[in-house]
Amino acid sequence: MGPAVTEAAPADGPVAGWLLRRARLAGRDGLWDVEATGGALRAVRPARADAPAPGDHDAGGRAVIPGLVDAHVHLDKAYALGALERLGAFDGPAPGLAAAIGATRALRATMGLDDLVPGMHRLLAAMVRAGTVAARVHVEIDPALDPATVAVHRQVTAEYPGLTVQLVAFPQNGTSADPSMPARLAQALDDGCEVVGGCPYADDDPRRHLDLVFGLARERDLPVDLHLDLTDDPGAAQLDLVLPLVERAGLAGRVTVGHMTALAATPPTRLAHWIGELARHDIALVSLPTTDLWLSGRDRFPVPRGVAPIRDLLDGGVRVALASNNHQNAFTPVGAGGLLRVAWLASLVAHIGDPAGQARLLDAVSASPAAILGLGQWDVEVGGRAPLLVLDAEEPLDAVREAPPILARLG
Ligand SMILES: [Zn+2]
Repeated sequence: MGPAVTEAAPADGPVAGWLLRRARLAGRDGLWDVEATGGALRAVRPARADAPAPGDHDAGGRAVIPGLVDAHVHLDKAYALGALERLGAFDGPAPGLAAAIGATRALRATMGLDDLVPGMHRLLAAMVRAGTVAARVHVEIDPALDPATVAVHRQVTAEYPGLTVQLVAFPQNGTSADPSMPARLAQALDDGCEVVGGCPYADDDPRRHLDLVFGLARERDLPVDLHLDLTDDPGAAQLDLVLPLVERAGLAGRVTVGHMTALAATPPTRLAHWIGELARHDIALVSLPTTDLWLSGRDRFPVPRGVAPIRDLLDGGVRVALASNNHQNAFTPVGAGGLLRVAWLASLVAHIGDPAGQARLLDAVSASPAAILGLGQWDVEVGGRAPLLVLDAEEPLDAVREAPPILARLG
């Protein structure tokens, strides 16, 4: 039988509201009715026995979860495998990080902004279909690229009003090779990027890179989001350079680090120290398992798992989000924006199979990234502000176990 649920109008006005009947919710037995007005949930109560009235939305006993939030995604290099192959810039099985960055740089040099737009639309549509309602999008800022890329990101993402988007000014190829980079990053922030991105491993002088990033963040009172320690070699980790800057800039709670695969190869004592420091500075960690499994573990023995140790980080009290990062390009050869599939993969990678652990993985694609993005209360409780997703599944944790299709979104 097909879904008995229809799309509700966005609940963003003072009078907009909806009633969802017969939902199965995490942490609650039986079926529940959920009511929203003005963009927030106003009631969660045991389902009434009568049949849904015309105009009500009926989950029909299916699982309902908060909308998914992608804390780290790139729209400007999605679906690039064909172009990379035609360019001869990407020769398949064992590219590693440096080769992926080089191939992507060569590809971007052949592309105008118009060439980016179809892939951006394809990915945004796929993300929306897969239940993503908000995303932090990294926009490459580089002297070789048209600075209008920020405006194009704003225009294209504005066509998806159901998706809340935060743009990050991201210097993928470093900040020191070209003297115009500080001004370019500042311009990207003027143009609408709301987060200062960084990638210190892309520079010969990572300290200078980080000084620029944290300087901009302090000057403009903005959060920081770093690509960090994407390496199998804990000796090459740069987290120790970042920690004092977070402290000095007073940015505890506003810094996010992505990848951190070096932690997967770090001996236990050092690992415990770093996890403690991440928690103490309230630095959020975004794990990107699809990319990290693909790029890591290629030239070391023993082969590390290649993904930040998600279970240890969660146990250590670190706010952890799982995000999709790249899609069908030199960094990740698969994917279509689906965060539930990333959570599903993380269950295997991080050896998290118990229900409480899988509930934390669901949080890692919803409530946790929502906190990173500053979106407010993100649960199916009174006061919650998340749009809700009706899954083609019996139980909310099937979201992680099965990565099921999304039947409807409310809000
Ligand atoms: Zn990234």
